[in-house]
Amino acid sequence: MRELKLKWQLFPSHIIIIICAMLAVAWYGTHSLKKFYVEQMAAFLESQSKLILSRVTELTAAEKLSELDTFCRETGKKVATRITVIKLDGNVICDSERDYRSMQNHANRPEIVDALAGQAGSSQRYSTSTQQEMLYVAIPIQRDNGLLGVLRTSVPLTAIEAELHRLYPRIAMGIIIVIVFASAMTLLLARKISRPLEQMKYDSMRFAQGDFKDKIVVTGSEEIVGLAHSMNSMAAQLDERIRAVLGKSQELETVLSSMIEGVIAVDSREKILYMNGSAKQQLNIEQSDVQGKGPLEVVRNVELLHFITHTLSQDQTTEKTIVFHLGRRDERVLQVHGAQLFDAKKVKIGALVVINDVSQLLRLESLRQDFVANVSHELKTPITSIKGYVETLLDETEEHPQHVRDFLEIISKQANRLQAIVEDLLSLAKIEQESDREDIVLEKGNIKNVLQAAIEACSIKAAERSIQFSLDCEEGLHTLMNGPLLEQAVVNLLDNAIQYSIPGGSVQIVTAVMEKEIQIHIKDNGIGIAQQNQARLFERFYVVDKGRSRESGGTGLGLAIVKHIVQAHGGRVNVESEPSKGSIFSIQLPKI
Ligand code: ADP
Repeated sequence: MRELKLKWQLFPSHIIIIICAMLAVAWYGTHSLKKFYVEQMAAFLESQSKLILSRVTELTAAEKLSELDTFCRETGKKVATRITVIKLDGNVICDSERDYRSMQNHANRPEIVDALAGQAGSSQRYSTSTQQEMLYVAIPIQRDNGLLGVLRTSVPLTAIEAELHRLYPRIAMGIIIVIVFASAMTLLLARKISRPLEQMKYDSMRFAQGDFKDKIVVTGSEEIVGLAHSMNSMAAQLDERIRAVLGKSQELETVLSSMIEGVIAVDSREKILYMNGSAKQQLNIEQSDVQGKGPLEVVRNVELLHFITHTLSQDQTTEKTIVFHLGRRDERVLQVHGAQLFDAKKVKIGALVVINDVSQLLRLESLRQDFVANVSHELKTPITSIKGYVETLLDETEEHPQHVRDFLEIISKQANRLQAIVEDLLSLAKIEQESDREDIVLEKGNIKNVLQAAIEACSIKAAERSIQFSLDCEEGLHTLMNGPLLEQAVVNLLDNAIQYSIPGGSVQIVTAVMEKEIQIHIKDNGIGIAQQNQARLFERFYVVDKGRSRESGGTGLGLAIVKHIVQAHGGRVNVESEPSKGSIFSIQLPKI
């Protein structure tokens, strides 16, 4: 049922009450008025009777009936009152309006009975002789203490009725005016009561929406103002509690969202209660709102779902490694730990799953294993060769002196290679260690000086292969650098440029100043590098042509060292190359 506004509930009931009250007042008023009129009329008739009583007594006592009749008729006409005289036996001896001879005995009429008893009597009733409602007043006719008869005066009540009828429209008008006025007052009153209530309804809706900024301000009755005060203090407490709860949940949210581990909380029906950003990232979930959803709806991984179901059914913590496929090639190895969630009463309400992405760790582990295998392999070759030649030498020292010299040269070459590999490995390890510990000191240094020093260091090798260097670097170009390390990086690049150029070629060293960085380009017109080999060029021990690299004494570590040095400077290194045309190795360093 549709609820009515307070105003419309108060208004009709008030109006009904007012109408009923007005009708009751009107009925009672007219009734009293009529009674008053009748009483007044009766008193008037009695005094009229008393005025003519002496004359009537005289005529009655003298039994002058015709004179009495004439007197009554004349007087009755003058005062518009019917006058009747009744004898002790009830017979009428005179009537101002009727022929008394045709009239019935009146001894039983109530007013006559009273008058015969010696006192004035009155009554109202329908008169058969005049055929209308009449008011009768009778008084005794006495002489010398003896009762002679009764003098009765009467008037029709129609006059009173007519008088009252004239009053009814006025009474009705009065009632209507009162009702209209009362309606207006009721409406005003209802509005006065309902307006603060409306305001409080609006404000409480505002509170329900969490807006506690403004208090409820209402004027009205003590109860309404009191209610507003109570609601204000309730709102203040609510606000405080909500703030406290929000603060706590924000703290928790901050902690959970800043965790590297993924966190998923599910309820006992396996619906997600919470999932932090790391979990979304690890499981590649793009949906922002996952609350209330089943894990399968957001992440298509049956293993994880089984793990959650298993955790919910257990009483102890669980652990598993899950391989999560992102695409055909990309996969993540996730280590998941599960525990049960309990509420304050220690009732199990769900499960908590913590996810660790161990792919990187596994990748590093495999890199470490590859590295150890590479180092072992690279060291094994020269050692085997040295060992072989030494054993041969021991066998045939005397017979072939020329062989001895050749073998010793080979041994020396392999030993040099071993030394080069170990030196490169050591310097790589040193750079890595220092840059990890941030031990590499960077100072403002002149780039041209570094480039000139590197050219100088490579000049003998360049001369051997008839390679020409050209340097194009503006004067006074400075950046933050570790001079010796940067020089080593440039030397490595120049060394390669000489190594992989055709004799008689040229190597250009060009610098360029960009908006945010300084670039050092080392261009050669040598053999170049095929596109498919360029991506792995900076990995340790990666060489394009093993034979050629070994022949030239290369270790496969030169570019790895360059990459680490440049990274320690906060820069990048990259390569552009085309087979048979040449290569450009570029170092980008931050500008100061
Ligand atoms: P290496 O000691 O073998 O030179 P690097 O790490 O310096 O090892 O270089 C790795 C590989 O990159 C080399 O074996 C070579 O194949 C290729 N390379 C490097 N620089 C050049 C270049 N300027 N021109 C052509 N190939 C190059």
